[in-house]
Amino acid sequence: MTARTGEQFLEGLRKTDRQVWLKGERVGDVTEHPDLAAAATTLAGVFDRQHSYAEECLVPDPETGEAVNISHMLPRSVEDLRRRARGLARISEATVGLMGRTPDYMNVKFASFAATWRDWLGPGEVNEEGAANLVAFQKRLARGDISLTHTIIQPTIDKARDPAILGNKVTLHKIGETPETIVVRGARVLATLAPFADEIAVYPALPIPPGAEDYALGFSIPVDTPGLVFLCRDSASATAEPFDQPLSSRFDEQDAFVIFDDVEIPRERVFLDGRPGSVEVYNLVTRTGLLDNLTTQTTIRALTKLEFAYGLATRMAATLGDSSPATLEMLGELLSYVEVTRNAVLCSTDHGREGPGGVYFPDGRALTPMRSLLATWFPRVNEIIMLIGSHNLLATPSRRELDHPSLRPLIDEFLHGAEGTSAEERAALFRLAWDFVGSTLGGRNLLYERFYLTSASRNRIISHLANSDRSRPDELLDGILASARQR
Ligand SMILES: Cc1cc2nc3c(=O)[nH]c(=O)nc-3n(C[C@H](O)[C@H](O)[C@H](O)COP(=O)(O)OP(=O)(O)OC[C@H]3O[C@@H](n4cnc5c(N)ncnc54)[C@H](O)[C@@H]3O)c2cc1C
Repeated sequence: MTARTGEQFLEGLRKTDRQVWLKGERVGDVTEHPDLAAAATTLAGVFDRQHSYAEECLVPDPETGEAVNISHMLPRSVEDLRRRARGLARISEATVGLMGRTPDYMNVKFASFAATWRDWLGPGEVNEEGAANLVAFQKRLARGDISLTHTIIQPTIDKARDPAILGNKVTLHKIGETPETIVVRGARVLATLAPFADEIAVYPALPIPPGAEDYALGFSIPVDTPGLVFLCRDSASATAEPFDQPLSSRFDEQDAFVIFDDVEIPRERVFLDGRPGSVEVYNLVTRTGLLDNLTTQTTIRALTKLEFAYGLATRMAATLGDSSPATLEMLGELLSYVEVTRNAVLCSTDHGREGPGGVYFPDGRALTPMRSLLATWFPRVNEIIMLIGSHNLLATPSRRELDHPSLRPLIDEFLHGAEGTSAEERAALFRLAWDFVGSTLGGRNLLYERFYLTSASRNRIISHLANSDRSRPDELLDGILASARQR
């Protein structure tokens, strides 16, 4: 197969009898459900977009020559990294960066696994078949243009009492095996995109302790595998006129709590099966280049969203005739987030490094800080939009009110903007802004930005502990200490 069209993607969703629950009901066809159809259509547009921008978004499969999405690419040069960055930017524009889980998010992760499996999963005594399965899966992911969700985080029950892993029967673990399958039970948070995915992947994330073999699992299975249950959060999708909620009416990608109720995983779909030695393999995942590949996708998506937010905030200020120092300063602050994020993308690609097997990875030094910085910048971006918008975010007539013959002349007279901005233009803009910061979708998206790469605090701790090269800081410090002693 080759890169799919939107209609082929929707057809795949229709065929899959997944156990997705929303508002207490099992959803039949996700492409028709009132709370899910809009996002399905948007995602179909993402699939179509790769064909509309084929030059940027598609590359030939190295073995078959067929066109696959650029997010599957195993870059062989800095120019490949630049090319992939352009393609990922093009994909992110489809949702102005508001959907974090367009399938390229997962694709770049599995591209890094496929590039580094020899140094990670095998071959070796521990996991030779798992490694082969992983490589085969990445090819299938690319060639089938599969939409993949994932769940890698252990659910929280009682932080004070429950162990995160060992002895914890809530979180996903292996409960049995046969020559053909492993059987797993437990739960995981929080599969974003679940209703719109063809498969769900489980793979290593935060380190687990020695002895936690039953929890050291990796696999990918179709979302309609018996025993898989997806509990969706309340919908943030608006069925109102797109004019009234231009973002909520398109971009709710959904998040689902996942229950594995004695799920049988066929051996050929298992990458890591919890056998002795699996914990060591599990905990090597950060050596796969996964973080650098993933964070390039997330930073490019964030750049698109920041540029959109900067455009929005600037237009809001202009519509209000607001050039106060306070507002100009906030716009400059927002622009600084845009440009630092752009620097991270450019620097990480331009300084790409050659990894195992000649595959290139972006430079993580430019990307790692973005994992915590963006999680704190996005809340500030929302605050800036609120501070510039103030009451104007709520003085926004709806489509029906604008279309009402007796209301319209009053709205035109009393609710227009500065410099000849019409009442309709003003309402459209501030409705968009409120949908960005104040709607259910806006709230969910803020939570997403804060946590989808784990919390900012955890990322800061991890990056400090992982920073093994402190030679220059030490040299600078020791130089001053030495000169102070000589006086
Ligand atoms: C909208 C959304 C979508 C998501 N989608 C997915 C998905 O598709 N797949 C998936 O697997 N997961 C997903 N997640 C889960 C996400 O990965 C976790 O929320 C994230 O890893 C943080 O874990 P946590 O929620 O348990 O919070 P915690 O890690 O418990 O953090 C909560 C707070 O506790 C503090 N804290 C706790 N422990 C530490 C520590 N060790 N160091 C420093 N600070 C700490 C921090 O201040 C933090 O703010 C999603 C989450 C959200 C909100």
